[in-house]
This record gives sequence, C-alpha cells and structure tokens, in this order.
Amino acid sequence: MTSYADFHRRSIEDRDAFWAEQARLIDWQTPPQTICDYSQPPFARWFVGGRTNLCHNAVDRHLKDRADQPALIWVSTETDQERVYSFRDLHAEVQRMAAALRELGVKKGDRVLIYMPMIAEAAFAMLACTRIGALHSVVFGGFASGSLASRIEDAEPVVVVSADAGSRGGKAIAYKPLLDEAIELSRHKPSSVLLVDRGLVPMNLVAGRDQLWATLRERHLNAQVPCEWVDSTHPSYTLYTSGTTGKPKGVQRDTGGYAVALAASMKHIFCGNPGETYFSTSDIGWVVGHSYIIYGPLIHGMATLMYEGLPTRPDGGIWWRLVEKYKVTVMFSAPTAIRVLKKQDPAHLTRHDLSSLRSLFLAGEPLDEPTAQWISGALKDKPIIDNYWQTETGWPILTICNGVERAPSKFGSPGKAVYGYDIKLLDDQTGQELTAPNQKGVIAIEGPLPPGCMQTVWRDDARFVSTYWSSVPNRMVYSTFDWGIRDEDGYFFILGRTDDVINVAGHRLGTREIEEAIASHPNVAEVAVVGVADQLKGQVAMAFAVLKDASILGDQAALLKLEGEVMKIVDGNLGAVARPARVRFVHVLPKTRSGKVLRRAVQAVCEGRDPGDLTTMEDPAALQQIRDMVTPA
Ligand code: ATP
Ligand code: MG
Repeated sequence: MTSYADFHRRSIEDRDAFWAEQARLIDWQTPPQTICDYSQPPFARWFVGGRTNLCHNAVDRHLKDRADQPALIWVSTETDQERVYSFRDLHAEVQRMAAALRELGVKKGDRVLIYMPMIAEAAFAMLACTRIGALHSVVFGGFASGSLASRIEDAEPVVVVSADAGSRGGKAIAYKPLLDEAIELSRHKPSSVLLVDRGLVPMNLVAGRDQLWATLRERHLNAQVPCEWVDSTHPSYTLYTSGTTGKPKGVQRDTGGYAVALAASMKHIFCGNPGETYFSTSDIGWVVGHSYIIYGPLIHGMATLMYEGLPTRPDGGIWWRLVEKYKVTVMFSAPTAIRVLKKQDPAHLTRHDLSSLRSLFLAGEPLDEPTAQWISGALKDKPIIDNYWQTETGWPILTICNGVERAPSKFGSPGKAVYGYDIKLLDDQTGQELTAPNQKGVIAIEGPLPPGCMQTVWRDDARFVSTYWSSVPNRMVYSTFDWGIRDEDGYFFILGRTDDVINVAGHRLGTREIEEAIASHPNVAEVAVVGVADQLKGQVAMAFAVLKDASILGDQAALLKLEGEVMKIVDGNLGAVARPARVRFVHVLPKTRSGKVLRRAVQAVCEGRDPGDLTTMEDPAALQQIRDMVTPA
C-alpha cells in the first residue's frame, strides 16, 4: 500500500502520470492525448484531446450493471413525498428533459439557468444540460429577484427552468413572481421559461414564453437523446461563489477534469462504494450540491439522496431516519446544520439504526471543537471528517484521504493537503514561503490548479487573473484568501479569511483567533468578531455573541458582567491588544443561506456604511438587531 505522503508527492512531482491513472476512473469517447496543458498559465487545460460527457458518466454508463438500482432518492418533508428513481428511470427522465430543452432551442454551448427548489426535476435539468453540452447555471432558490436578475444578465440563458414554488417549514414560497420580476429587470430575456407545476401556488403563464414541464414531458415520453460528446475542456457549468466577502464571482468549470476529479474523490476521500447511498444535506444551489448531491455520487454509481426540507421537521431525527431507511453509508453536511441538530433531543440519535453510516463529512465553515466533539460522541466515534474547499475548486483542498491511507483527524483541523494540490503557505507581505511548522500564512495553490477546479471567471479571463493570481506579492499563485498554519504533521488549521484581519494599533490580529477565545466561554454558543474603524487605534475589534442561555438577554447588569468575563478570557488567551472594544449579545448572527457568518455586512453596519449585496442573507432581522445596537439613538 502506498503511504499518503507518497501518493501526494507523486500527484505533484509526477503529475501527468498520476492524473492519467485517475482519468481511467471515467468513460471517455476519445481518450485524452495531453494530460495537462499549462502552456498559458494560470489557465490549465486538463485532458486535452479527450472527449467525454458528464451525464454519460453519471447515468448512462451505469445502465449496464445497475439499471434497476436506485440512482436518485428524492425525499420532501415539505410536501410529504418520497420517490426513488432507478438509473433506468433517471435515464428516461433526463432524456425527456433534454428533448424538452432541445425543443425550446437549447444547443451545445448555450446556457440554461436553473432556479429551482430541491426537487428531482432540478437534477433532471442539470443532467439534461450536460447531456446536450449546454451549460447550466444554477441559482439558489432562496435568492430574490435582484440577484436572480443579475445572474440572468451574466449567464444570458436561452431557457430558464423553474417551478411554481419552493417550500420551507411547510410554507409555500412562490418562485414564479420573483422570476417574472427578475426577467423584467434583466436586459437579457430568455426566450422560454420551463416550469414545473407542483400545485403549490397558482401561476400566471406568459403566452409564448412559459411552458409547462408536464406538457413537454408528455410530448417527449419516449425521447431518445444521445449524449453529446464534448471536448474535455468544454465548459459544463457556471456557478457563483457565496458572496460572503463581496460580489459573487462566476466560476466556470470544465467537463473532463471535473468528472475525473469527482470520480477520484469518491474513491480516495469519501470512500463510497457503487450501489451504496450517499446523502449530502446541501442544496443544488451551492457547489457541494453540484459536486456531491448530483455528479460525484452518480459518477461513482452510488444512489444520491436529495432532501427538501428542514433538518428539524417533522422532528430533529429526520436525517437519522433517512440514514436508517436508505442505508446511507456516506453523509456530507455543514457545521451549521450540526449545531442546529445539537439543540435537538439527543434521543433522536439513539432511536435510529445508524450502523450503515461509515463517516460524516463536514465543510463550508470552520468546524468548532464543541460541535465536532458533540457529533463525534453522538455518532459513537464514527469518523467526522472536516474538509476545506471553495466553490472555485469544486472538491476538497484539505482533508483526510482515508481511501489512500487511514489517518486520524485532529480536532480543529480539516486535515492535510489533498493530492493534486501543491499548497504553499505564504507571507502575505513578501510572498515568501513559510516552511517551518506552525507559522501563519496565506493558503495558496501553486499552478496548475488540479483537475475539477475553476477554468476561469465566466467571460472574464482578466478577472480570473487579477482576482485569484495577483494578490500575493512577487509570485503568481492562486490565493484562497484564507489564513492557515500547518503543524509538524502536515495538518492545516484555518485561521479565517485574509480580509478578516484587523489592525489594532499596528498589531495584526485574525478575527478568528479572537472568536475562538470568546467561544471558550461556557455561555457563548457562537460569536462573530469584526474590525471597526477607530480614530485612535486604526481599528478595534467588535464582538457579537449568541448565548447558550438567552434568558439573560434582557438583564443589562448580567450582560455587563458577562462582557467583562469574555474580555478577561481574551486578555488571558491573546493579550489585551486583542480585547474587543465591546462584546454585544444578540439573538442570532447574520448568515448567508449556506450558513456562513456575514462579517463584511456586520462590519459595514458597525461603521455606518451600506452593507452592500445582502441577497444571500438568511435572516435580515439579525443584521437589523446589530444595526439598532450600534447606531447612536
Ligand atoms: P465569496 O468568495 O463570494 O466571498 P465564499 O468564500 O463564502 O464567498 P464559498 O466558495 O462557498 O464562498 O466558500 C469557501 C470558503 O468557505 C473558504 O474560502 C473558507 O473561507 C470557508 N470554508 C470552507 N470550508 C471550510 C472548512 N472546512 N473550514 C474552514 N473554513 C472553510
Ligand atoms: Mg470565497
């Protein structure tokens, strides 16, 4: 057996041979001639000369061995529906959708915008696009018309696929009026809108533009739409980053590199087996949904569980019930969801037979130790595997690759550099590499980015270079814009975003470090620290904390005492220089719909500035509470 260190070294030092081997995990119509063309850095072209198709790899190639095995398990606790599609069923549905898109004029290279709730038709639409070589651009169903309009303008879709409504907590949320408004606002007008009518809310159809999926599906019931073989470098989709730090960036992904990267990750990282069930609790609107609800598991011949609903409805045991019922072996979620479950009755976990489950992967934000400890204990010490990556990369950058060599996790660390990623920790001022252990630097990736990562910013090569490859002085490397350290064993620890660094009277402090100190107070559930402009010190830290015991929120004296305690902890852990100017206690923190704390919005509000694009925000009241606190009466 190869050691992981050797495996990783080979992926960098013998790059082409390594990836040529991984490329055999997928089907090619024409095998690649050149494994990696990096003649025009930083633009990497993977598996040049190869022709393949994502949908073929996700669906058609499994018909031979597993046509009647489950492919897509769709569960909605919103509408109380459950449906299992075999690979054969999925193949038929995707062809119907592909035929419908073709009828509406979609050709290879055209864009199709998908604005959908978590229903099976959304998966059909994505797969139908890649089947015919069209690019999907999935827009998270929680976005309102403004953000939808800007994405329609950017993607210029021929067709938008949508539905009458989504549903959240049992309440229908109409999509169609938002879509109509967005199209009204956008300079680009799609020629058709294909609508799934779930019967949740009435729809006004626009004559000549709007089409009902049920009608087209009927017309194409026996459709046979072969996969369109495309060049490996043919773009498969575009997707926007979460917008946590600023204006979302349109990430463009290729076909062959992505398929290979996902197939390899299913084997080496997620350790799933064909025929088993994979359950990712994310949403198709995010990158995790693209890679690990749709493409990754299906490419690997696994059934994927697609869930519409809250983790707490009908009760906090719903996910565990699904694990038991569908014998989920690999599960993928986010720390924010686990924190929600932690507040539920612990009996939910013991009530269900979770013996099928081998490991739980978590990503998207730092996995704090209390959450990690709790879920690890609750799952009886099954591996909880933190993994760190970005929309831009499409698959993990840092994690534990148990499929190569089993290794322990360290709490607080997402693990080691994943094969294919030549990771450097760099000094942000000089660009110098930090090789000694436990030094803090910017996590950067030496080009070429491995297969599966972004090709460029959609229609904006210049922005790709200027945003990602030009931020570290004196070298052209890809910056993740995250701080990290690497310990003597090669485990990384994420210390927050590079723009989360504050400068207090000349001292550069990571807000994440301050947050960790504050979170160690027994009554602090969650905390966000931001740097706020200060005439005297340049910047000061401001902390906003959510309490475990919120009953004292109205008690000013108790809160002041608590504030003092928290400051003392910071003084003790980091020194008085890191002590926040104020620690305020709030009901909830403002977060994106994907669970990330919107620090930039908190900071803007504290400085009396316009918080900018808030379309990804979960609960506007959370920011309002902070605004009320910091705005002088
Ligand atoms: P934008 O780039 O538009 O500001 P975003 O960075 O939040 O948005 P994503 O691509 O969804 O958009 O998130 C990637 C970021 O999430 C990483 O750069 C990192 O800051 C954080 N992240 C992801 N996984 C982890 C993890 N396991 N531990 C710590 N941080 C993580
Ligand atoms: Mg980002």
